[in-house]
Amino acid sequence: MNSRHAPPPRPAEPAPAATGVISSWDLSVGVDGPGTRFVVFTSGCSLRCLYCQNPETWHMRDGRPVTTEEVMAEIGRYQRFITVAGGGVTISGGEPLLQPRFTADLLRRCRDSGLHTALDTSGLLGERATDAMLADTDLVLLDIKSYDAVTYRRLTGGPLQPTLRFARRLADLGRPTWIRFVLVPGVTDDLEDVDGLARFVASLDNVERVDVLPFHRMATDKYRRLGLRFPLADTSPPDEELLARVHDRFHRHGVATT
Ligand code: SF4
Repeated sequence: MNSRHAPPPRPAEPAPAATGVISSWDLSVGVDGPGTRFVVFTSGCSLRCLYCQNPETWHMRDGRPVTTEEVMAEIGRYQRFITVAGGGVTISGGEPLLQPRFTADLLRRCRDSGLHTALDTSGLLGERATDAMLADTDLVLLDIKSYDAVTYRRLTGGPLQPTLRFARRLADLGRPTWIRFVLVPGVTDDLEDVDGLARFVASLDNVERVDVLPFHRMATDKYRRLGLRFPLADTSPPDEELLARVHDRFHRHGVATT
């Protein structure tokens, strides 16, 4: 074949933008990854955690269809600011892994733009996260809501094991992870369960820290506006003594907490 007449190679076509459904986006500091974060709240979640702060994200039908290109255009308006502030983009929800193609495409586009990426997930659908998606994720924020399967189901309506399996897989892949644990008096404060979680986390060498988040009732009004009753409306936040005891359980196993 005469190569002089071969057509010049075509430039690679940009991948088509994925479509997803989101509830909102927002800027946050300190809780959704390092620095100032642009947080995308995806719509849809199959769990129903008693303390959920984002009930408006539960149903896909309440969200807004968007393409990853549209979200990237919005992120672009803040990119300089969040980069200077040592931050990045966090995909949260809802449950981002309910929309794995959208989430993977968004993570890839953020990565290609030089942005730090974080994925905030319950881990229930961890099997939907491909290794390629996780390679585009600089940090996983993994909620382990209880280490006791019965408590976990009572609290979330779902099974614990998929989350633990996902945690192990993240360790095998060496993906940096922060574990998040919400301390709810009378629900997740059993110190034996906390010990079990601390032991499990200590066995994962990719976990950088555990965030012990004190339960609060700030979403009560949000529930009322949605015509729902906040299930833990009568539960008080943990006191300082209980918080200190729980932090101590993690520290005994050499696990850093915030
Ligand atoms: S997993 Fe998250 S979004 Fe889903 S119900 Fe629980 S706290 Fe709410």
